[in-house]
Amino acid sequence: MPVYDFRCLECHHNFAVSLSYSEYDHHETACPQCQSRRIERIIRKVRITRGDRGRLASMAEDSNLSALDNDPRTLGRMMREMKNEIGANDLPGEFDEVVDRLEKGQSPEDIERDLPDLGGDPGSLEP
Ligand SMILES: [Zn+2]
Repeated sequence: MPVYDFRCLECHHNFAVSLSYSEYDHHETACPQCQSRRIERIIRKVRITRGDRGRLASMAEDSNLSALDNDPRTLGRMMREMKNEIGANDLPGEFDEVVDRLEKGQSPEDIERDLPDLGGDPGSLEP
């Protein structure tokens, strides 16, 4: 079931609720703290960084991180699936190139070397 983040407009309490799509359509969610229905959905900005490898691994419930490290093609496929899941509009331009390179079998380390701007913090790649 998808999890949605909400903020209560009455008491400013932030909370997460897992809702089925039909429940979400009916807006039956209330603040767990003050029971107010005056809540708003919090949309989180999605940003792809090197740290996302951990999140990708957790998305693939049964596969483990070392398998991902040893198999760039699997990582590339998962990133492509993730892109389909969250929609393409929030992703940086490099994303497609990274996925292409992974699916050709390049290691994440090689890709980071070739694309030093990846993750928006090029300084951290310097030794
Ligand atoms: Zn509240």
